[in-house]
Amino acid sequence: MDKSKKIIIAGAGIGGLAAAACLLQEGYNVRVYETAPKLGEIGAGIQTSANAVKVLHHLGLADQMAAVSVKPKSFEFRLFDSGEVLHKVPLAEAHEKAHGAPYYHIHRSDIHQILADRVLELDPDAVVLNSTAIGFDETDDSVTLNLSDGRKIAGDILIGADGIKSAIRDQVVGATEPNFTGQVAWRATVPVEKLPEDFMDKIVAIWCGPKKHAVVYYLRSGKVLNFVACVENDSWTEESWTVKADWQELKDDFEGWNEEIQIIIDNIDKDQCYRWALNNRKPIYNWATKRAVIMGDAAHPTLPYMASGAVMAIEDAAVLMRSINANDDIAEALDMFARNRVDRTARIVTESTEHGDLYHLSNKEEFEAGFGKKNIAKERGEWLYSYDPMTVELK
Ligand SMILES: Cc1cc2nc3c(=O)[nH]c(=O)nc-3n(C[C@H](O)[C@H](O)[C@H](O)COP(=O)(O)OP(=O)(O)OC[C@H]3O[C@@H](n4cnc5c(N)ncnc54)[C@H](O)[C@@H]3O)c2cc1C
Repeated sequence: MDKSKKIIIAGAGIGGLAAAACLLQEGYNVRVYETAPKLGEIGAGIQTSANAVKVLHHLGLADQMAAVSVKPKSFEFRLFDSGEVLHKVPLAEAHEKAHGAPYYHIHRSDIHQILADRVLELDPDAVVLNSTAIGFDETDDSVTLNLSDGRKIAGDILIGADGIKSAIRDQVVGATEPNFTGQVAWRATVPVEKLPEDFMDKIVAIWCGPKKHAVVYYLRSGKVLNFVACVENDSWTEESWTVKADWQELKDDFEGWNEEIQIIIDNIDKDQCYRWALNNRKPIYNWATKRAVIMGDAAHPTLPYMASGAVMAIEDAAVLMRSINANDDIAEALDMFARNRVDRTARIVTESTEHGDLYHLSNKEEFEAGFGKKNIAKERGEWLYSYDPMTVELK
């Protein structure tokens, strides 16, 4: 496609910034409109597997990623009370060797900052803050992003990367109803100096128990421990990542769990516990109009149980860039992108839901039977981590 095309992106989250960086690096004219008054992310961790890290390497960000990440040795699925290991998946060298790039744990604000720096290095004016998308108009010749303050931004292509409550998705697809899962997620971080020395190896510990599970791993070169816990609780329906909740409720949720979990919870800053309701949405199959397309959480919001929401948004960015490069016709480019992404992301949405069931079984016997039937390394290796968004053949 002609590189002078003007591409408008709504949303400067991980997905929108990854798309902006990929497209700017190709020489397109890109502007990102972000509702927030400043660029930033919440204080929590994120796991990124080889399939996304390859895109970050393509953007020249290998050193920046390595400098602030942790390479976990393995996933360890543990029984909630005894800590007995139910299943183990090697990561570190095994992941890198099998899939050609590292598996990283990184602080959300670090990866967001790394992407924002790359975007601004490519074009210092690329991001426009205080700009809330409310919808768009399109003709055969152009698309116009409408902002809440009355501004109208004209361009050739509009990318809706405006997250789980996307205004662009509402117009492309129509309103999609979230289904509350009856589960909430807690998140908190603990500086390692508050924990006993050599508290936990550099692994991802996934503690599985009746009606809840907790995921624990290190961030920031091992200086911070990340704690995320999902609990079946239908009394909290606020779907916001920035709403605080009462520490005592978190403590009560994990009463009777292993001593390691108690130590983590006891050392969490009591004023820094966040909780949000987990909604599920059925996969969406129509992502594009003639000139507008959705990506990331706007297109395929997922439960977090396969740690792949941001990973999919980063893959989207690369495949969208390649689809735009490969077609002169805009509608065909957007269609190619959607055609190549819908099935894969729908599988993440569906399998994440199934993983939630596996992590919340009732007792040791059920967990042993559930994990006994699984070979997560093989399953995920075959279709999830082995995908290369930079080279996969586009249908
Ligand atoms: C508990 C939990 C743990 C997770 N762990 C992982 C993990 O380990 N690995 C992983 O890959 N994923 C993980 N995810 C998922 C991941 O966080 C998301 O999939 C990812 O952030 C999606 O990126 P995005 O850019 O599409 O959307 P967002 O990150 O939501 O970004 C959307 C951006 O658009 C802006 N915006 C919103 N509305 C508007 C508007 N109207 N106009 C303009 N701007 C707007 C927002 O301010 C934001 O900057 C997790 C999610 C949860 C809930």
